Amino acid sequence: MIRVDLQESITIVKNRIAVAAAKSGRNAADIKLVAVSKTVDSDTVRRAYELGITDFGENRVQEFSHKIEELPQACWHLIGRLQTNKVKDIAGKAVLIHSLDRWNLAEALNKRGLQQGVTVPCLLQVNVAGEEQKAGVEPEEVDSFLESLGQLEALRIEGLMTMAPLLDQGEKARPVFKELYQIKEKTSKNRYNNVNLRYLSMGMSQDFEIAIEEGANIVRIGSAIFASE
Ligand SMILES: *Cc1c(COP(=O)(O)O)cnc(C)c1O
Repeated sequence: MIRVDLQESITIVKNRIAVAAAKSGRNAADIKLVAVSKTVDSDTVRRAYELGITDFGENRVQEFSHKIEELPQACWHLIGRLQTNKVKDIAGKAVLIHSLDRWNLAEALNKRGLQQGVTVPCLLQVNVAGEEQKAGVEPEEVDSFLESLGQLEALRIEGLMTMAPLLDQGEKARPVFKELYQIKEKTSKNRYNNVNLRYLSMGMSQDFEIAIEEGANIVRIGSAIFASE
């Protein structure tokens, strides 16, 4: 096997993002790369930061808290399931929570935001594929969920997030991404308080080019960047 170092894998991923963006007539600069650092330590994160990665994603609160302390100058995203008893560790710290997936979490984040006097930027996670074990609101619930969020003054809903089924590799994931894009287009016609759907967070190492072709402007990429570490 050829050993690829961190610098090389970052370059390769950025090039692949640029090619996919160009293919769909978009600008690579409009697509935010969130490097998912859940499998690597803080030293590796620091090296990635020095190589130009600005945004990192963690799926566990404990790791999030540890790494944000080690590298507070980076932008930290929470991408995994958040328990309501841990919102205090995340509100006011995460630049974006990708995994708002249920009403009681929205209430807990709002309450914490109000207490701290901060707004809490979130993406609404949608279970497009309808998998039983996956988090997220159902596609047909998105509108009513967003409408109700208007009552939660500290929340800011900045877009939608989804995950394709793990087994739907590559092309098979395309319909899921297409559907999230359509949900965003349809929902954006309605005006809800505290909601501005500017981000679509979709696409991981195995399918990010397809997600970009279908309108993603945030991709969450772990192994394609860090597998060499
Ligand atoms: C781990 C993870 C990713 C990144 O997955 P890779 O296949 O390593 O790119 C993206 N999103 C979420 C929610 C994850 O948990």
